[in-house]
Amino acid sequence: MCSLQDDIDIEKKSKPQLKTCVKCKVERAQYLVRHAQYCKQCFLHTLVGKFRVMISKSKFVVGRKECKPNVLLAFSGGASSRALVHMMNEFHVGDPAVKKKTILDNVKICHIDESIICGPEEGTLKQAENIISQYPFQFIGASLEDVFSSEYTDSDFEQVLRTEIVTREEGSKSHDQLKAVIESSTLTNKEKANALLNNIVKATAKEDMISYLKNKLLIQIAKRENCSIILLGDSSTRIAVKCIAYTSKGRGFSLPYDVAAEIEVEKGVGYLRPLRDCLTKELGIYNYLHKLETVFVPTITTGAPIKASIDRLTEEFITSLDRDFPSTVSTVVRTASKLTTSKSSEQNERCTVCLRPIQNGISEWRERITVMELPKSDVNSAIAATDENGNGSACTSDGCCGQGCGSPKESKFDLLPLLCYSCQINARDTKPTILPPFMAERAKEAYSRESLREQISEFLIDDSE
Ligand SMILES: [Zn+2]
Ligand SMILES: [Zn+2]
Repeated sequence: MCSLQDDIDIEKKSKPQLKTCVKCKVERAQYLVRHAQYCKQCFLHTLVGKFRVMISKSKFVVGRKECKPNVLLAFSGGASSRALVHMMNEFHVGDPAVKKKTILDNVKICHIDESIICGPEEGTLKQAENIISQYPFQFIGASLEDVFSSEYTDSDFEQVLRTEIVTREEGSKSHDQLKAVIESSTLTNKEKANALLNNIVKATAKEDMISYLKNKLLIQIAKRENCSIILLGDSSTRIAVKCIAYTSKGRGFSLPYDVAAEIEVEKGVGYLRPLRDCLTKELGIYNYLHKLETVFVPTITTGAPIKASIDRLTEEFITSLDRDFPSTVSTVVRTASKLTTSKSSEQNERCTVCLRPIQNGISEWRERITVMELPKSDVNSAIAATDENGNGSACTSDGCCGQGCGSPKESKFDLLPLLCYSCQINARDTKPTILPPFMAERAKEAYSRESLREQISEFLIDDSE
């Protein structure tokens, strides 16, 4: 019979006794990392060593002695990127008394203020700038809503993209609401960004959109600042979480871009993740030992229940598993590091929203595996490019909105074929909304390419002919 006593009598795991350091075998160990025990000195030496190897052996750096690369370090304010800034200073600048050779040219630190999502009201730029002012690095600040400025497009394209999902019941209603939003011409970038994010219903889709916007900002700033490397503070714990979360969100095809130690993300700009072998816990200890302050940036899942989003759930899954099986993170990361992009996939069409390559034939495949089928006219994602003031081209009899109202003619086209699988899925959780100019620019480009291809199709010679 089961008694209360039996229930309580669960085997209690005792904390392992700290012995001498596994490395120097002299000092008393202070820190337990995975299965190894280190003294303070050896702990710091090992941790920083992992970072140094990643940078100095990077293919973006090796063999570029003549033309050292400029680097843009993405500083979110969190513990990992905070540690990265400090390590970078020791690595790149070092002790001013000792003159040493550097392998990088300029290091610039970029912070993107995302306070528009969950505060704080005063923003985080000032706080981040204060931290960076302790270092001899240039600080570059941007805000998430800046994606609505034409500065972040390749051709000063000003138009925003209007998305709509037309359903029989609510199509016209939400369409009108959206029109009202867009046509109030005085909308600030902040209001546009709010309109975009507020219309994404599910937390997972919203988190994804936020990360795509930040990625775009970083790439565009790197190009502007002539930086060929973007340093990301992804720790191995974070990368393991991303591996599982992104795979479950259907992003397996472009996974290497989000987890690889180094990868070219756009022509001339590469991601480098020098903390890929460092656990979040190790970086926390590093920050504690150096008394490094961080910027607290609340996110949409801060304090939310575990099941709030796929990312949040995966984070809980990986960290709790790693607590009992300390090799979990390194196993996942090592397995994922074997993934590379194929030469052909690099040339694939890029997704309009997340800018990652689209797997060929994805729309057809999705149609085959979707159980529920709706007539095309019912669920139809269409977009129209509308300029800053909400003015499209004039209403004509055949291109009118259907009400003979003189409202702008909308050049509608289907957005779905321009999206990767995961963004197609996320589109289901998005109410009609507006997308920033850089996405509109890409969609327009893709469509003009497509229509050109159609026009000249009869003159094209197929490989088989
Ligand atoms: Zn030691
Ligand atoms: Zn996508």
